[in-house]
Amino acid sequence: MRPALDGLSRDGVLAWLRERDEEALGALWRRADQVRRARVGDAVHLRGLVEVTNYCVRHCAYCGIAACAGPLRRYRMTHDEILACARQGRDFGFGTIVLQGGEDPGLTGPFVAGVVRAIKAETGAAITLSLGERDDADLREWRRAGADRYLLRFETTDAALYRRIHPDVAGTVSDRLGQLLRMRDMGYEIGTGVMIGIPGQTWDTLADDIWTFRDYDMDMIGIGPYLPGPRTPLAGALGAELAAPPADQVPNDELTTLKAMALTRLVCPDTNIPSTTALSVLDPAAGRANGLCRGANVVMPNLTPPEYRVLYEIYPGKAAVHETADALAERVIALVDSLGRTTGSGPGTRLRTPPRN
Ligand code: SAH
Repeated sequence: MRPALDGLSRDGVLAWLRERDEEALGALWRRADQVRRARVGDAVHLRGLVEVTNYCVRHCAYCGIAACAGPLRRYRMTHDEILACARQGRDFGFGTIVLQGGEDPGLTGPFVAGVVRAIKAETGAAITLSLGERDDADLREWRRAGADRYLLRFETTDAALYRRIHPDVAGTVSDRLGQLLRMRDMGYEIGTGVMIGIPGQTWDTLADDIWTFRDYDMDMIGIGPYLPGPRTPLAGALGAELAAPPADQVPNDELTTLKAMALTRLVCPDTNIPSTTALSVLDPAAGRANGLCRGANVVMPNLTPPEYRVLYEIYPGKAAVHETADALAERVIALVDSLGRTTGSGPGTRLRTPPRN
């Protein structure tokens, strides 16, 4: 007997993650889409992504811009360059600007606060930061400057696996869930997520991950396939060492990613879920649309100038690396139209909607 899709337990999530029957999965896709429509509506919120720096002090084993990632030209955008991207996002009608980057101490607290204030003053957009693990003083200063949200994926609930793929920076202990909770107290909307199919991620771990999204009542949840980067440790010997036995190891494929997204929509019905860029890299023709039809209600088009975008290869083949921001924005808006959905207006803040009936 398959567990009912309404009122899923953690073990129900696990059973559905392992489901392979196409007809049964059809019911999962339909339910996720219904719940998405009932709880967050037909609007697809567009968040313009600016990749502000590729400097990073971390040694994440999965990431193409880690401190140890081979010879790589590093860049840090200027205040004016970031502001120009934000203006472009406003002109496309995006209600949110996302500033993401490596964990870069050169991106100082006061610098980011100044950028946040300027973007707010000029565009009125909501501002999401995704700049890794920072101390509370910076996080408070950015919140005071007007930052609304923060994205920080916890990457896995398996603590031993986490330490292997995301080593501590000397003298500190990485505690992403702790930072997320402190940020919620500071007044941020908080977003998190995981990659699907990292070596060592078992079906049980992934069920725990999804259950953690629910336990922590996350406001935004990004789920994308793990895409092995050449020259990264996780794509090589470390990945071979960490991989679980085949029956337990989660594959890094589109089907599993879509199952995780759909199940996340069912257990976190009114959260914001993006159809991720990584999913569209795995399936350039249909990935983004598939995500939007199986629970997602957000897309994050890239506004980073092409000369920097090519240097922000956290994973290989990031979609549309050579496409201009205009072309990409147009394509995303056309896609939303073709699905019979609308592009969201305003900031697209999470609304805690009560269930109907
Ligand atoms: N420095 C910030 C932003 C990182 S990029 C931070 O660490 O939070 C955002 C997300 O991209 C990461 O959290 C990770 O989940 C994802 N990512 C990194 N490398 C990836 C890879 N090789 N394949 C798929 N996703 C990846």
